[in-house]
Amino acid sequence: MELHLKVKLDRESCLGDAICTAILPGVFEMDSEGKAYLAGGAEGKDNDLLEAASLCPARAISLMQKD
Ligand code: SF4
Repeated sequence: MELHLKVKLDRESCLGDAICTAILPGVFEMDSEGKAYLAGGAEGKDNDLLEAASLCPARAISLMQKD
């Protein structure tokens, strides 16, 4: 079942280890400062979003259920 999650990224907390970009490239990308940013939509990728959020050591990835 799809949860239809939306994602928020706290760039201030990001440690730059690129775990999230390895799990979901195209959704998470690294910028020139070595921090992750949201590069695209993640529709239909709830399981990968949950994995990225749970593995982020900075707890910088927040997930919310879409309305
Ligand atoms: S997993 Fe977390 S700490 Fe690592 S790059 Fe992604 S947002 Fe930053």
